[in-house]
Amino acid sequence: MTRSVSIFGATGSIGQNTIDLISRDLNSYQVVALTGASNIKQLATDAIRVGAEIAVTANENRLVDLKAALNGTSVIAAAGATALEEAASRPVDWAMSAIVGVAGLQSSLKALESGALLALANKESLVCAGELVLKTAKKYDTRLLPVDSEHSAIFQCLSGEDHSTIERIIITASGGAFRDWSLEAIKTATLKQASTHPNWNMGQRITIDSASMFNKALEVIEAKEYFSVSSHDIETLIHPESIVHAFVGFLDGGFLAHVGPPDMRHAIGYALNWPKRKNIPIERLDLAKISQLNFFEPDLNRYPALRLAYDVMARGGLAGAIFNGAKECALDAFIAEQIGFLDMAEVVEEVLIRCDSKQDILDAEISFENVMQADQLARCRADEIIQERIRK
Ligand code: NDP
Repeated sequence: MTRSVSIFGATGSIGQNTIDLISRDLNSYQVVALTGASNIKQLATDAIRVGAEIAVTANENRLVDLKAALNGTSVIAAAGATALEEAASRPVDWAMSAIVGVAGLQSSLKALESGALLALANKESLVCAGELVLKTAKKYDTRLLPVDSEHSAIFQCLSGEDHSTIERIIITASGGAFRDWSLEAIKTATLKQASTHPNWNMGQRITIDSASMFNKALEVIEAKEYFSVSSHDIETLIHPESIVHAFVGFLDGGFLAHVGPPDMRHAIGYALNWPKRKNIPIERLDLAKISQLNFFEPDLNRYPALRLAYDVMARGGLAGAIFNGAKECALDAFIAEQIGFLDMAEVVEEVLIRCDSKQDILDAEISFENVMQADQLARCRADEIIQERIRK
C-alpha cells in the first residue's frame, strides 16, 4: 500500500536523509508537500524528483526563485508562514517534522490536527510544548513516532512493554567535538571547531548543540515528555562510539539496549515504515571489529546545559520554552561570533534566572500562543544579556 507523506524541513540534514529513503522506493510513497527555507535549488530539485504536489519555502521573498525553479513542472510553488501552515494541514498518512528550532512547532501541530502519524525529529516541539503536542495527538487520534536516534531506540526497546515497569532510561551522548578537550581549551573553541561532529553527520545547529550538550539537554526533556517518566529516572552516559543509542532498565532488573551504527537513516526509516520494518541501506554493525564500547558519566562542570535541563524539568510549565528560546538566541550569537562557546550556557542560565519572576508567563496554560510568548520573552532577555556581554 502506498503511504502519503509530507516532509517539513526537507532541505535539511534529516529532510535529505528522509528523501534519500523515499526516493529509493517511490512506488511505496506518494509525496504531498516538501518545505524548506533558504535552499530553493535543493527544494525544487527534490520536489521534482519525488513528484511532490507542493513545495513551500518559509521565506516569502524567495517565491519568485522557487516559481522559476519549478517552471514547467506540475509542482505548485508557495511561500510564507500561511503557506507553510496550509501545507502542514494537507491530509497525509505520515509527516516528518524536521524544521530546526521552535519554528517547527506549528507544522508539528498542524500535521497532528490533520490526523497524520507524526515522525518527530524536531525535538523543540516536545521541549517547548510537550503537553500540547501530546494532547493534540490524542485529540486527533494519531501518534508521534520519535526520530531522534536515542528516542527511537527507547521506543524500540519499549515495544510490547508495560511502561509502568520502566525503572530507568539511559540516553547516551557522544560527548561532541570537545569530549577530549580540557575546560581551558574549550573556552577558546571556535565556530569551525564546534561545527564538526566526531561521529554523526548533522545540521550545523545540532552539531554545535552536541558539543555544548544542549542537544542532550533537549533530549532529556524530550524523553521525559514523550515517555511520561520522572526526570529522576532519566540518566545520561557519555559513549564515545555512538553505537548504543539508549538503554531501558525495568523493575525486574532487566536491561534492554538498542544498538546500531550512527546513521540517522535507521531511526528515520523505522518511523517511515512503522509498524513494519523494511530493508534500509545502512552499514551493518561488525561488533567484533568495534570490539570495545565505553561509557562514562558526564561531568556537569564541562556540560552545564545538562544540569540546566534538570532545573527546567523541575520548574515545569513553560520553562522548556524559555530554555529553548534562550538557547536558540545564544546559539545565533555564537554562530555570529558575538559570544564564546562557554558563554552560551551562561546566557541561558541567566535568562532562566531573570525569567523566574515572570510567574504569570511560566505558569500559563501550554497553548501555542503562550509558548511563542515565552519564546519571545526568552529571546529578548537573552539578547539583553548578550548585548551587555558585547559591551563589556
Ligand atoms: P538543518 O539545519 O539541517 O535543517 C533545518 C531545516 O529547517 C531546513 O530544511 C531549513 O531550510 C528549515 N528551516 C530553517 N529555518 C526555518 C524556519 N524559520 N521556518 C521553516 N523552515 C526552516 O537541521 P537538521 O536536519 O539537523 O535538524 C532538524 C531537526 O531535527 C532539529 O530539531 C534537530 O534537533 C532534529 N534532529 C536532527 C538530527 C540530525 O541528525 N541532523 C538528529 C536528531 C534530531 P533551508 O535549509 O532551506 O534553509
